[in-house]
Amino acid sequence: MKAQRPDPPQWLSTKCQRWGQRYEQRMSVNPGAPFSWPQHGRQKINRLLLPLLRQMTNDHCAFCDIFQMVAEIRETIEHFKPKSQYPREAFQWENLFLCCDKCQGAKQELFDPLLLKPDEVEYEFAHYFIFKFSSGELQPNPTASPLDQQRAVMTITLYGLNEGERPQARKRVFASYCQSANPDLSLFSYRFMFL
Ligand SMILES: [Zn+2]
Repeated sequence: MKAQRPDPPQWLSTKCQRWGQRYEQRMSVNPGAPFSWPQHGRQKINRLLLPLLRQMTNDHCAFCDIFQMVAEIRETIEHFKPKSQYPREAFQWENLFLCCDKCQGAKQELFDPLLLKPDEVEYEFAHYFIFKFSSGELQPNPTASPLDQQRAVMTITLYGLNEGERPQARKRVFASYCQSANPDLSLFSYRFMFL
C-alpha cells in the first residue's frame, strides 16, 4: 500500500549521519561487526522509531501489508537498502520501514535498484500490480511499461510475496472481509485487494 512518510524526529535528522559514518567505519575494520541500534535519551532508537513507523502504515507491514495487530508475527524494522551494503544509510529515516519477519526473512540483505518503495510519491499499487483473485497471487500489471513490470517482478521476488502460504492467506482474508457485516478495512491485511 502507498504510505505517506511523516517528517523524521529532529534528533534523528541531527544524528543519523554521524551514526551511519560510525557504523561504516566499524564495518570497514570488521565486515562482520554486529549491528546494534544506538541510543537516544537512554533508549534504543528502534524502540523510539517503531511507533512512528507503525503509524506510517497503520500497523501494516510496508511490503506485504499484513496487519500487525492480528497477525502473531514478530515486527521488525527493515532497512530498505541493506545495512551491510549501505552502512551509511543504516539510520536514515527514509530507509526504514515497518516489516513483518516473513518479508524480512525473504529479502535478507538483498537489494536491487528496481525495488519499489511504497512511500515514493509516484508509487501506486494499481500501476504496478494486479491481484489475481483466483490464485491469490500478485502479478505485474500487464499494461505497465516493461520497466515498471520488471520493478513489480523484482519486488514480488525479493520480498517473497507469492511464496508458500501467502496467496492462500490473501484468499482467506478476502473471504472473511466479504463475510463481515460492517468491515473496517484498516483492520484487515492486504488492503490492496480492495482498491
Ligand atoms: Zn510483510
